[in-house]
Amino acid sequence: MFIDTHAHVNFRAFKNDADEVIKRALENDTWMILVGSEYRTSRRAIDYANKFEKGVYAAIGIHPIHLHPMEFSEEEEEVSATGEEFNYDMYEKLTTFEKVVAIGEIGLDYYHLPKNLDIEAVKNKQKKVFLEQVALGRSKDLPIIIHCRDAHDDMLAILKEFKRKNKDLFPADGRPWGVMHCFYGSEDLAWQYFNLGLLVSFTGLITFTNQTDSLLRKVPLHKFMVETDCPFMAPEPFRGKRNEPMLVKYVAARIAEAKGLTVDKIADVTTKNARELFNF
Ligand SMILES: [Zn+2]
Repeated sequence: MFIDTHAHVNFRAFKNDADEVIKRALENDTWMILVGSEYRTSRRAIDYANKFEKGVYAAIGIHPIHLHPMEFSEEEEEVSATGEEFNYDMYEKLTTFEKVVAIGEIGLDYYHLPKNLDIEAVKNKQKKVFLEQVALGRSKDLPIIIHCRDAHDDMLAILKEFKRKNKDLFPADGRPWGVMHCFYGSEDLAWQYFNLGLLVSFTGLITFTNQTDSLLRKVPLHKFMVETDCPFMAPEPFRGKRNEPMLVKYVAARIAEAKGLTVDKIADVTTKNARELFNF
């Protein structure tokens, strides 16, 4: 069994066949977490999760690109950001739904920045809204799903400071309290996040090159999960096509190959890690 820990079947790319895509994954022994990126898609993640007795869960939160209106394309998919103001109370209410297992995706994105706005002001707003959502997660004992693009220095600095100032909000037993989603970076960077109590999760991005092979070989079995980030990031040999949860096995297969282990072993450890982090 696999758990796709980060899927956006709640996005527009699946508006005509979301039910079939989800059922196809469940029939292929693949569970999933549907991840919101703004209020509307967070709400929809819960609605979809509620249609299934088990195997489909939701994460709610506002992604940094949605703080300002913007349009761009990502891996062939058009993205249109609404420019939503973060409302803590509205998101807090969403955490009361039983299927909500995480706050996400939240974070920093310095790659897609709005034009004609003061860059420092935009970055500061991203940091502020991110930290408000980290606090929401901690107050509800819900793990967070972190998006970080071109912003690791700031991410590490603000997480370290937040942890130092709010020690009482973190699990005393040292269990993980979040994940760096779509991780793609050096071993040193991965270990800095492990030291903060976070896991990493891998997408189809690791099937595009062999640049992460050394990290994949070394990453401890209890420190990582797998995800699709669908509709984006379809793993090889489907690169460029619309991704979907049942393809998460190709990400696991790539890790298995790098580690010299079986796909079943990677399925087992990543499922265990996901069920422990997200508590289902
Ligand atoms: Zn995502």
